[in-house]
Amino acid sequence: FFAYTIYLGAGEQGSRGAGEQLASESSSPSVSSLPSSSIHSPIHPSTQWAALELLQALGFRVNPNRQLCQSAEDVQNYYDQWATRRLQLSYLTDGVVVKLNDFALQQQLGFTQKFPRWAVALKYPAEEVPTLLESVSFQVGRTGAVTPVAELRPVQLAGTTVARATLHNADRLAELDIHQGDTIIVRKAGEIIPEVVRVLAELRPENAIKVTMPTHCPQCASALVKPDDEAVTRCINSSCPAIVQGAIIHWARRDALDIEGLGEKWVKQLVEQGLVHSVADLYSLTEADLEPLDRMGKRLAEKLVGAIAASKARPWPSVLYALGLRHVGTVNAKTLAQHFPTVDALAAASPEEIATVHTIGPEIAQAVAQWFEVPANQTLIDRLRQAGLQLAADEDQAQAAEAGALGGKTFVLTGTLPTLTRPEATALIEAAGGKVTSSVSKATGYLVAGEKAGSKLTKAEGLGIVILSEADLLALIGQD
Ligand SMILES: [Zn+2]
Repeated sequence: FFAYTIYLGAGEQGSRGAGEQLASESSSPSVSSLPSSSIHSPIHPSTQWAALELLQALGFRVNPNRQLCQSAEDVQNYYDQWATRRLQLSYLTDGVVVKLNDFALQQQLGFTQKFPRWAVALKYPAEEVPTLLESVSFQVGRTGAVTPVAELRPVQLAGTTVARATLHNADRLAELDIHQGDTIIVRKAGEIIPEVVRVLAELRPENAIKVTMPTHCPQCASALVKPDDEAVTRCINSSCPAIVQGAIIHWARRDALDIEGLGEKWVKQLVEQGLVHSVADLYSLTEADLEPLDRMGKRLAEKLVGAIAASKARPWPSVLYALGLRHVGTVNAKTLAQHFPTVDALAAASPEEIATVHTIGPEIAQAVAQWFEVPANQTLIDRLRQAGLQLAADEDQAQAAEAGALGGKTFVLTGTLPTLTRPEATALIEAAGGKVTSSVSKATGYLVAGEKAGSKLTKAEGLGIVILSEADLLALIGQD
């Protein structure tokens, strides 16, 4: 007694294929096919089916593969029928969508927190086939992410020949317990990306070696980094050849160093021909280096060298963003550059000190500190400095910071202050040109101590650091 509208659905990735297919068809239906009453009166279809018919009559493209079903059995039959028929479609599909036809009933059923109760996607199981694992390679992407990839004995799967399948990451690799020479089952996730489903351990050759993530980058041999709470293993050496190309493209972006004309096709050639191994190499390129590149010529070479030179004037926050540190987008770069007016100040800061900056969380701080610990990155900074890039706030900004009453002095807060909250005290100190960090060291200028001050006070006293009360602080910055 319920009627269902049903049509073939494509998954997230599959729908792109479907869209392209629809877009490539050309049709110009005429509005004259509309019933005349529909043209002159407001149209309020009361069912899904009527809505689709109406859209079609109006000239919209709707999927012709749909059916009005009268029972759950009809739905089952439609689903079964398309299990194989869908493979003949010129686009990829992963299931059928079933909707309750009557809009009034739809409304009555409503939604759960996330989904409508009146529609459901019935997915087809992905086709799975066994094949032999020939080897596992480790690809380094442009963000430094290392992805294990299974190299397979080629096999037919959902309409294509599959020779490689992703193993995602270190966690998945461990979970699969994959060994060299294993027989494995592959399928296409969402009918698009081949992935390894499981291993047939009973077919494993004797003494097979277990596949594990490398500890060092297959491209540049630096130690890989994998935070415990993340699935991704990364190479964080900015000189890694696999990363260089992506790094240069990022470097040249409009919101970074804005090097006009340094497009992907040039970057590819520059890296492949060994002319550039890091963004710093851009600054020693000459017209003579560039001119021989395919389709470059004298005029373009001249312009590109000029554009690269002009990028030296880009300000410190843009340079910091262009360096492409993890989690450091334009906003975080600006914030960090404000608090650390020179690259040396940022490089010298501990993760704890970086994390005291408002809006910079511990994860970001950790990533930033880690980046500066890599020797290759330190070399990069030195070379950029020699090339004349802006690695400090310009003098006006630096002077403005110095001019504050606290002149760049470092403060540590401890205990409970009589009237100010921590954020209030921090804001006052920063507004006056001071910096607030969380731990006491020889570099600490003042310790502001309130009630119940503990180990920080003891340590500061031991180091001979000036101890201030809240009143002292207010006096110092002229707020008393
Ligand atoms: Zn590497």
